[in-house]
Amino acid sequence: MKVMKFGGTSVADQSAMERLIALVRAERQAEAQREGGDGRGPVVVVSALSGVTDRLLGVAALAGAGDGEGAHKSLLDLRERHITVSQVIADAALRDPVVAAINREFDEIDRIVRALAVLREVSPRWLDTLAATGEILSSQIVAAALTSHQLPAAWVDARRAIVTDGEHTAAAPLFQETTTALMTHADPPLAAGRIPVLGGFVGASTSGVTTTLGRGGSDFSAAIVGACLGASEIQIWTDVDGMLTADPRIVPNPQVVPHLSFAEASELAYFGAKVLHPATIQPAVARNIPVRILNSHRPQAKGTLITVERPPSERPLTAVASKKQVTVVDITSTRMLMAHGFLRRLFDVFERFKTAVDVVTTSEVSVSVTIDDPRRLPAIIEALSEFADVQREDQMAIVCVVGDGLQREPALAAQVLGSVGDVPLRMVSQAASRRNITFVIRESDLPLALGRLHERFFASMSAA
Ligand code: ADP
Ligand code: ASP
Ligand code: MG
Repeated sequence: MKVMKFGGTSVADQSAMERLIALVRAERQAEAQREGGDGRGPVVVVSALSGVTDRLLGVAALAGAGDGEGAHKSLLDLRERHITVSQVIADAALRDPVVAAINREFDEIDRIVRALAVLREVSPRWLDTLAATGEILSSQIVAAALTSHQLPAAWVDARRAIVTDGEHTAAAPLFQETTTALMTHADPPLAAGRIPVLGGFVGASTSGVTTTLGRGGSDFSAAIVGACLGASEIQIWTDVDGMLTADPRIVPNPQVVPHLSFAEASELAYFGAKVLHPATIQPAVARNIPVRILNSHRPQAKGTLITVERPPSERPLTAVASKKQVTVVDITSTRMLMAHGFLRRLFDVFERFKTAVDVVTTSEVSVSVTIDDPRRLPAIIEALSEFADVQREDQMAIVCVVGDGLQREPALAAQVLGSVGDVPLRMVSQAASRRNITFVIRESDLPLALGRLHERFFASMSAA
């Protein structure tokens, strides 16, 4: 059985939904004929219609600012859009209950938003309740649309199926509880020959309060579902041909990477290749399930296959990922040299304020780290200032270059760094695996640096 995850642009409107239906039908037919296949599935995981999560978070921001009327207007638009898309459900007997659910859900969040606008405060818990609406509704539309096109589906409420801790807006799944929940809610329809459809991104804590897995988290949901139900493959259907050699929004002519190892894919995802949520690979690794990135607009494209190991490649570099809006924090010991225990004290502070550190470099008297979530930085700086001088620099970018060649060819790292020319490097770090090299530059230099690097190492590659 395969898991098919469709991102926002793959469920954006009626024609996207029709493409989704065709892809699920093709997979169903292929599974029926597959030797050794169990004839089950697929399980379908969907994101919110594209742009909806951003809009819902915008509604929450308006409510937080006391603009109840603005929030209400935005919700009216969103309600209309969902009702329009639900026209894809050909059979009125199936469509009417979904339209009723859309209206009920929007009535409910409208009431919540009005109350929040009076309080002028939106807690992470309410933020999750609002943000989850996108996936709760898109999944109901998709389930009914499949059924009305002779692909019998069963809507599975992700708030019952994905059990998480209580860390709102960045909840972590509890695998044992989630396996039990999926066996209860998704396995019976599968066994009965139906297609379970659930919203990604969304879960609920053990006490039943709605949570979300963090932005882009539907990929993670698909991997969790695949791992818990023992899928043979996890497919991420999106709007590009696969993992590309660089971010297509920055570099004009990136190429598809046909095959990646789990280690390479996690590195690229972690350092900004948005096409895959960074946590996606973890459940896939645990159960050794291949992940495939595919284009729902161009299903004939081969996509990217991600497995434990990949065949050796002639290419010295695999791809480059980049992450904007990074902050560099320089921490200099107030003593002349770093005293014993300095690093422990320093990282304790980041730990205490639950702020992840990405790149770290050290010199004799100072440590530089990057963070991408500066929300708790003022408190962190205050705590660090008890024993160090602290400087921050915003609007920086991380570039992470991944490739086996870095291990094989000693001169390659220098060539990579040299390729960016006169762009100033703020930090440089090479990981223990030596399969990647990471550097930090000013965000404003990113297009130039990436363009030069890509031109030097990837532009001559033939298209995959
Ligand atoms: P979905 O809604 O399907 O989850 P996302 O917007 O989350 O899609 O991810 C797909 C987008 O990721 C692409 O449209 C592309 O702009 C961006 N992206 C950034 N880096 C890469 C990369 N290295 N390879 C492919 N896509 C990338
Ligand atoms: N809809 C959520 C988001 O936009 C989750 C996802 O699409 O993966 O972040
Ligand atoms: Mg995504």
